[in-house]
Amino acid sequence: MKSLHKETQAIKSVQALQDEVKPVAMPIYLSTTYEREPDGGYKNDYIYSRNANPNRTLLENSLALLEGGAVAYAFSSGMAAITAVLQLLKTGDHILLPDDVYYKIRMVLDETFERWGLSYSLVDMSDVKSVSSAIKENTKLIWLETPSNPMLKITDIVAVSNLAKSRGILTVVDNTWATPILLNPLNLGADIVIHSTTKYFGGHSDVLGGAVICKESNELSQSLQHIQVGGGAVPSPFDSWLIARGISTLPLRIKAQSQTAMQLAQYLESHTAIEQVYYPGLESHAGYDIAKAQMNEYYGAMLSIQIKRGEQVARKVCNALKLFTQATSLGGVESLVEHRKSVEGPDSYTPENLLRISVGLEHVEDLIADFDEALKLQ
Ligand code: PLP
Repeated sequence: MKSLHKETQAIKSVQALQDEVKPVAMPIYLSTTYEREPDGGYKNDYIYSRNANPNRTLLENSLALLEGGAVAYAFSSGMAAITAVLQLLKTGDHILLPDDVYYKIRMVLDETFERWGLSYSLVDMSDVKSVSSAIKENTKLIWLETPSNPMLKITDIVAVSNLAKSRGILTVVDNTWATPILLNPLNLGADIVIHSTTKYFGGHSDVLGGAVICKESNELSQSLQHIQVGGGAVPSPFDSWLIARGISTLPLRIKAQSQTAMQLAQYLESHTAIEQVYYPGLESHAGYDIAKAQMNEYYGAMLSIQIKRGEQVARKVCNALKLFTQATSLGGVESLVEHRKSVEGPDSYTPENLLRISVGLEHVEDLIADFDEALKLQ
C-alpha cells in the first residue's frame, strides 16, 4: 500500500474491512456493487444493489416471516409498493377498491393508470353481497384495507378472499394499519399483502418505505420482483436498516399504542361533544365481531371521530389539542391528529367534521386530559 500513489491509496485504504468483525447490530452496506470471484462469477446474490443489498435482504426476510408469506419485496415507499402491484395488471383489467380507500390510490389510478386502460369501482367492502355484485367479467383484483382509512370499516377477509378465489380474482390487503402483529391476511386467504412501512414498521416518522409480501413464490411473485428490480423503486440501505431496526420494537409499540387507542376511544364515545367514534375495538362498531375474530387481541392505534358541531368546531378542536401534533401520517411514537377531508382534497368522500387520530406512546391519561381540555374550548 505504501508504494502506491496517494490517489490509489485514497481509494484502496477505505475499501471494505476484510477482518472477521462480529457486530451485534447489522452494519449498513452502502456499496452499490460487489466484487466478482476469480472465475468471473459471484459467490451469492449480491452483484449490484438495485438487484439485492444485505440490509434489504434482512428486511425482506423479516417481512415475509412476520406476514407468513413466502417472499417479500421492499420498496422506497408505500405508494411504490402499491403501484408495483397495479403494474401486474393488463390493459382492460378492472379493480374493486374500498369506497374509503387510501385516497392516493384512487388518484394514481385516475391520473396514471387510466391511460394504461385500468378501471375501478368503489365498493363497501364491509358488505360481502355488495362486493359480489360489483364483480365484473374483467375484475382481476380486489383491494382491501381493514381497518379502512379513514372510516375504520372492517372487511371479512375470509369471506371476500373465498369469493375472489371462486372467480379467479386476486385479493390484496393493505395491512399498514393493523400490521402483522394484529392481523395476518395471508393466513386468512389473501394472495398479497402490502405495507407502507413508513408507518408502524419504521415507527418514528423518519423514514419512507413500502413492502409487498406474497403468499407463494410463483410466477406472480417473480413478476413483482422484476417490477421491483427493473423499476428500481427500492429503499436505500440506510432506509432498509432504519425499518429493520423499527421491527425489533414493533410488537411492543403496536400493543401499547392499541391499548391507549382503546381507552381514548372509550372516553371519546362517552363525550357529549362527539357525534361518532370509529374504532373497531368498540362493541358499538359495526365490524366489531369480525374484527374480534380476525384480529389478534388488539384493534390498532388509529381512530376517527366526528365532532357534533361541524367542520369549524372540528378544526378548532384540532388547534386546541396540545399533545397531538396536527400532521398527516400515522404509526409513529408521537400522537397525531388531522382534519382528514382537507388533506384528501375536494373529491374526498370523508365527512367534513371528521378528525383522524394516530395514537402514539404517550401516557393515556395525558392524552385523555388533552382532549378533555380541547373539547371544553369548542
Ligand atoms: N396505505 C395506507 C393505508 C396509508 O395510510 C399510506 C400513507 O399514508 C400509504 C398506503 C402510502 O404509503 P407511503 O406514504 O409510504 O407511500
